[in-house]
Amino acid sequence: MIVGVVKEIRNQENRVALTPDGVETLIQHGHAVWVEQQAGLGSGFADHHYTERGAQLCPTAAQVWQSAQLMLKVKEPQIQEYPLLQPEQMLFTYFHFAASQSLTQAVIDAKCVAIAYETVENRAGHLPLLTPMSEVAGRMAIQESAKYLERAQGGRGILLGGVPGVAPATVVVIGAGVVGTEAARMAAGLGAHVKVLDINLERLRAIADMLPANVTTLAATPGTIREALQTADVVVGAVLLKGARAPKLISRALLKQMQPGAVIVDTAIDQGGIFETSRATTHENPVFIEEGIIHYCVTNMPGAVPITATRALTNATLPYVVKLADMGWQAACRDDAGLAMGLNIVQGQVVCQAVAQTFNLPH
Ligand code: NAD
Repeated sequence: MIVGVVKEIRNQENRVALTPDGVETLIQHGHAVWVEQQAGLGSGFADHHYTERGAQLCPTAAQVWQSAQLMLKVKEPQIQEYPLLQPEQMLFTYFHFAASQSLTQAVIDAKCVAIAYETVENRAGHLPLLTPMSEVAGRMAIQESAKYLERAQGGRGILLGGVPGVAPATVVVIGAGVVGTEAARMAAGLGAHVKVLDINLERLRAIADMLPANVTTLAATPGTIREALQTADVVVGAVLLKGARAPKLISRALLKQMQPGAVIVDTAIDQGGIFETSRATTHENPVFIEEGIIHYCVTNMPGAVPITATRALTNATLPYVVKLADMGWQAACRDDAGLAMGLNIVQGQVVCQAVAQTFNLPH
C-alpha cells in the first residue's frame, strides 16, 4: 500500500505525522511511503532523513494526496486541502469534527474514510493518541509558568524552587489526570510546593503514591479550591469532562482574591477553560492580564515544541498506522475494537454518534 505524508499547512503547525523511523518500519512491512518535500523540516527532519530510510519524495502535496491509499496528517484537513481528499482513501489524523460543520461536510462529500486520532481508545477505555499531547502540555505548563512569573514578564518575580533559606513558590494544579500529573511532577522536580486537587480520589491516591513529598493532594471542593488559590503563585487548569465543555470552576470574583502577578495556565482552554476569564490565545501572543493575573491560554501548546511533540505523537500512532496499512481499515477495525472507535466518517456516512448528533445528521 502507498502511505502518504504531507507538510502541515496550518499556521504555526510544525509537527509531522511520520518520522524517518516510521518510514523504515512501514517499508519493512512491504509498503511504499510518499513524503512531500520539506514535510519534516519543522520537526528537525530534512528530506534526506526520509529518503535514506526508503521514502519517495514528492515535490507537491497534490501528488501525495492523489496516490496514497493511507494518508497521515497531524491536524484536520484545511480548506485548501478539501479538494485533494480522495474517495475510499483512509485519512488518519486529528479531526475534531464537532468543532467544524464545513470540515464534516467536506469529508462526507469526499467519500473518504476518516479515522480520528482523538476518538481511538485502548483496552482501558483511555485515549492513547491524546495522551502524549497531554503529557507535553502538562510538562510545558510549568516551564511557561516559570517564565511568566519573572518580573520582566509582568509576573510576581518568584523562583519556582526558591533557594536555601527562601521558600519556594506554590503551584496549584486542578485536575489530576494526564496533564495534571505531568505538571505536578515537573513543579515538584523544580522544588516548588505543589497542591493537586481533583474530585476523583483514586487519581489523588495515584498521585500521592507516585510523586514526592512536596506534592500535597486535596479533594476538590469550592472551599479547597478557594483556599488554595489565595496563596498560589501558579494555577494550572487541567480538568476534563469527556466530550463536554470544561466546568467554570474559578469565577472572576475568586480570581480577584489571588496574589497580583500570579500566573494561570489554563490547559483546558481547548474545552473552554476552567477560569471565567480565560480566552484562547496563540503562541504569537500567548498571555493577557485580567484582574492582575497573567493568563496563559494557548490551545495548541505542543505546537511550540515540535521536536518533542512529533516524536511523542508518532510513538503512539505508528502501531495503528502499521495495522491500517497491513490490514486495510475494515479488517484492522474488526481486529481492534478500540481502533474502530476512531472511525468517524466512512465513505459519506457519519458513523460517530457524537458527530452526527452535533450536526443533526443521520448515522
Ligand atoms: P484527563 O481526563 O486525563 O484528566 C482530567 C481530570 O480532571 C480527571 O482526573 C478528572 O477527575 C478531573 N476533573 C473532572 N472534573 C473535575 C472537577 N470539577 N474538579 C477537579 N477535577 C476534575 O485529561 P487530560 O488529558 O489531563 O486533559 C486535561 C485538559 O487539557 C483537557 O481539556 C485537554 O483537552 C487539555 N489539553 C490541552 C492542550 C493544550 O495544548 N492546551 C494539550 C493537551 C491537552
